[in-house]
Amino acid sequence: MSTTEGPVVGIDLGTTNSVVAAIVDGKPTVLDEVGEKILPSVVGVTPDGQLITGVVALNQLAAFPDRTIASIKRRMGTMEPIPLGDQTFMPPEISAMILRRLRDRASRALGQPVTRAVITVPAFFDENQRQATREAGELAGLHVERIINEPTAATLVYHVGEQDQKHILVYDFGGGTFDVSLVRMEAGVVEVLSSNGDTHLGGDDLDQTLLDHVADQFLEDQDVDLRENAQARYRLLQACEQAKRHLSTEETVEIAEEFIAEKDGSPLNLTTTITRSDFEELIEPFVQRTIDSVDEALRDAGLTIHQIADLVLVGGSTRIPLVEERLRDEFQRDPSRAVDPDLAVALGAAVQAAMIEGQSVGPVLVDVTPHTLGIEVCEGMSFAGPHLVFSPIIHRNSPLPARYEQAYSKMFDNQEEAEIHVLQGEHSEVHRNRSIGRFLLDLEAGGGNRNKIVVRFDLTLDGTLKVTATQAATDISQELVIDNALSQFQADERDRAVARLGAMFDASDELLDDEDLPSPNQWAPQTPDTSDSSVAATKTDSAEDEAKFPEAVALIKKAESLKSSVDAEDSCDIETLCENLNQAMTQRDHSAVASLCTELDDILFYVQ
Ligand code: AMP
Repeated sequence: MSTTEGPVVGIDLGTTNSVVAAIVDGKPTVLDEVGEKILPSVVGVTPDGQLITGVVALNQLAAFPDRTIASIKRRMGTMEPIPLGDQTFMPPEISAMILRRLRDRASRALGQPVTRAVITVPAFFDENQRQATREAGELAGLHVERIINEPTAATLVYHVGEQDQKHILVYDFGGGTFDVSLVRMEAGVVEVLSSNGDTHLGGDDLDQTLLDHVADQFLEDQDVDLRENAQARYRLLQACEQAKRHLSTEETVEIAEEFIAEKDGSPLNLTTTITRSDFEELIEPFVQRTIDSVDEALRDAGLTIHQIADLVLVGGSTRIPLVEERLRDEFQRDPSRAVDPDLAVALGAAVQAAMIEGQSVGPVLVDVTPHTLGIEVCEGMSFAGPHLVFSPIIHRNSPLPARYEQAYSKMFDNQEEAEIHVLQGEHSEVHRNRSIGRFLLDLEAGGGNRNKIVVRFDLTLDGTLKVTATQAATDISQELVIDNALSQFQADERDRAVARLGAMFDASDELLDDEDLPSPNQWAPQTPDTSDSSVAATKTDSAEDEAKFPEAVALIKKAESLKSSVDAEDSCDIETLCENLNQAMTQRDHSAVASLCTELDDILFYVQ
């Protein structure tokens, strides 16, 4: 077969894991092998000299380090011979073994031989390292159509085909390395402006830190250092890595390892509980180092945070909530994390591959939650009453299905119940978000651990949100299922619009043909209806409101007149505030009307 025939695949040849992807039915798709999308970048030989790759090789890494090679990417570009079993290999040969396995995987998945690939490398790779990668591809029987930078690939996943100039920051926090790149995208071309990072900072360091924490505790309790026994250390490392992953969605995790060590001839068990906040305290210095690199990369590129149009997250360690939280604080925006951070680079390489083949391809679209979901919490008391704020649990743009939990404290030791008020929106002020449900959780009185309430949100692909609140110490639990949590906004809008249409219909006494009715998804956020019939339909209420709340009615009128001239985000805020204000007036809730008026007045002051 000539090298210009057949599909071109995209390959992310990673330090820890590798992934192959291609365009299938017009969509960038990861090519899996019996459901496995990720191939550990590990090769080895069995005692009888057979080559093994991926998970099987990874499984023997601890027991047979002399017959197993991991992290070969770190040695690409060097001329260092690598012993493996009773032979030695050059680094591109080892990488070629991983690439060969990916090539076979791709050929099987696509049902035809694959001989062409785009392979990604870190932006900081020099010419030698790029050449070694190219060689590895050729050794694996692949014609390497192009070597592209990993941040370029990640950018293409989200922004393929966009023509406007924009700057994008790609934050890649993987298992062994951290990279940040600033890229400029213009007329579909992506250029890396600056890169920064640390080739020895990754998820592995976080595992090691957690391991040290647990081992230190064990040493104190049992006077045995688990780090001194290779097998115990390895078991603990595996357990810590798993615990770290769980802590990305759960508030606490238990590490339990039976017979992990021996003392005076008796077996010792390890059982310990780690909370997310313990873990966050341990890893904070590492996360801070990544933020410092981000600042340096910005300085090197001569850009400020405000010039960054998008923040793209890549690498498994970006799933850690603290990482996302710090970035959100730094950039004052939600990062793009809709695409699985482990797969984004390979999918982007597949996009580039399709461009080489002359196929047109759109950005990778996945299901994400369009709104932040969370609960109302009290941040403290003042003379004016409790200071209520919105505490997000699932952030906007999180891929679905999503499951996150967060711990809160009771307000008083003898509190007997807690109201869980579920909200949807993007504002810290409670009133500026939409209420989508509430329920009461009965509590056992008492302090200490009884103070802790864990609230878990499970959001499914079809938009069902299950909210579970549990008093941690007693396991007393209560749950609420909210259907349609994703489209609640649209549903509300639609109902209102239908009602308004009904009112107009009644007022005009005129029949509409079915084809004159908008389809449901045309009932997106509405511009204020100023038609006479609509006003007529709501006249009585408005007149009453006007008499009782003249300031609120005047503000709503002012908001309506300004709405068309403000940007989409402000317009959405104004709309929500007006709706909440209308609701508060209907309920004759004077204090809510007053505080909403203040907020609306503030926002109108800034936008006019
Ligand atoms: P990568 O090099 O991009 O494949 O990232 C691998 C790293 O991501 C490893 O250190 C994993 O332990 C880490 N990782 C994967 N999933 C999670 C998760 N859910 N939470 C925290 N770290 C994770």
